[in-house]
Amino acid sequence: MRAPELGKCVNPECTAEFKRLGTGKIYTLPVSHPQDWGLPPNVKQKVVWLCSKCATTSQVEFDEPHGQVLIVARRQAHRKSA
Ligand SMILES: [Zn+2]
Repeated sequence: MRAPELGKCVNPECTAEFKRLGTGKIYTLPVSHPQDWGLPPNVKQKVVWLCSKCATTSQVEFDEPHGQVLIVARRQAHRKSA
């Protein structure tokens, strides 16, 4: 599957570009309403990439009701049993 959004780090304050798999951290979320996430109707998965530098201090959470990708500090993140 193509994931055009992996072009750069999901952190808007970071300009790191995605070069290859194995660096940073990729987050995926199955979505039932792609439009809410700004995705084409045929795309059923939201995929974002956090570069290795950002991944050391931050992590990604998906705010599904609002279609938002959140960058949260790791120490503040509450781990939920998924
Ligand atoms: Zn980054």
